[in-house]
Amino acid sequence: MTTRSETQTTLDHLLTEIEHRNPAQPEFHQAAHEVLETLAPVIASRPEYAEPGFIERLVEPERQVIFRVPWQDDQGRVHVNRGFRVEFNSALGPYKGGLRFHPSVNLGVIKFLGFEQIFKNALTGLGIGGGKGGSDFDPHGRSDAEVMRFCQSFMTELYRHIGEHTDVPAGDIGVGGREIGYLFGQYRRITNRWEAGVLTGKGAGWGGSLIRPEATGYGNVLFAAAMLRERGEDLEGQTAVVSGSGNVAIYTIEKLTALGANAVTCSDSSGYVVDEKGIDLDLLKQIKEVERGRVDAYAERRGASARFVAGGSVWDVPADLALPSATQNELDEKDAETLIRNGVKAVSEGANMPATLEAVHLLQKAGVAFGPGKAANAGGVAVSALEMAQNHARTSWTSQRVEEELASIMTSIHTTCHDTAERYGAPGDYVTGANIAGFERVADAMLAQGVI
Ligand code: GLU
Repeated sequence: MTTRSETQTTLDHLLTEIEHRNPAQPEFHQAAHEVLETLAPVIASRPEYAEPGFIERLVEPERQVIFRVPWQDDQGRVHVNRGFRVEFNSALGPYKGGLRFHPSVNLGVIKFLGFEQIFKNALTGLGIGGGKGGSDFDPHGRSDAEVMRFCQSFMTELYRHIGEHTDVPAGDIGVGGREIGYLFGQYRRITNRWEAGVLTGKGAGWGGSLIRPEATGYGNVLFAAAMLRERGEDLEGQTAVVSGSGNVAIYTIEKLTALGANAVTCSDSSGYVVDEKGIDLDLLKQIKEVERGRVDAYAERRGASARFVAGGSVWDVPADLALPSATQNELDEKDAETLIRNGVKAVSEGANMPATLEAVHLLQKAGVAFGPGKAANAGGVAVSALEMAQNHARTSWTSQRVEEELASIMTSIHTTCHDTAERYGAPGDYVTGANIAGFERVADAMLAQGVI
């Protein structure tokens, strides 16, 4: 039997090797680091996990596709973007994970997201493997016609790699209902198949699940509430800072408000808004979802209770709870210090990897309840899997049924993470609990299926 410290040394060597084999992919290195620094206790306790080559298989995607996406803008000018789909692990089911359209997208970003997705999807308890894709295309300021032509070109290559039993993409940053519609249309046209289960996040009238748009944000609030309950508290009357103003942020604010908390902020890359009365969701949805505008317009139209702060960090706003819902590495060590100084009780990640490793360590050391994204934001992909189930059965469930399922999945993820952390000697450490519980499920499936 190897000891924990021997195992950690092996994992540290492996991390160095990962950095060498995957140069210039800092986000992937960070995601690998965050998982591997917590696995020593479980690997040391089960010799089959420690077998040479096993963790090496886990950190190597099963398949990576990179392709050219040429498209014409409204003036007839040709643009060339890069498309990606990383099919990371299919031991538990078809690859599952979103598509991100954002100028910051590169292979390292997609790999970090795909790697996270393996464990997140395992934690849902449903039959979905891990994958992620996207493009460095920037939808901001593009017309609907341009977005449609881009999506059609993107799908003209992607279609050959996906399928309801193979790989099932969905949305992520920059990919919402509009983009999923264009992508689905082109898939249907090329393949001549009405294959509902090939994409999730579809419109409710043509195969989409009710509550899918809300699921990530709602789920994160339920996870935060469960962490608070462990400490004998609830959401009622708590002040919350939320970053971002996309799908995740909007439905996080909606659920916080419904459960009696006061969500006072939202943000985008131009700055943040503080609204002492609580964010007015109708106004925010109008600006972000209908007009596709920026958050400064919110402060302009809301009146005296709101102000816009250009640049700056939303984490400077004092609050009981912080729910980062924008993007990776948006909450660093300095922000964590500010949150701790202002007495934050819980931080729950709506986005993927929004807190840096250093920030996570600081928050945990200060006794703040910290919900890692792969557990806290798993509600989105969980309802995607429920959408797949509805599609396979050619049926659709009521929003009440989907919401009940979502709530029970989030409760069970919280319990699993909580109990696993305790079992491995790290009580209250949801990062360790999530990583080990997700790892055990996927690792056991990989071992059972042989060297693949
Ligand atoms: N992009 C979301 C995530 O990060 C959802 C993925 C999905 O629904 O497949 O989990």
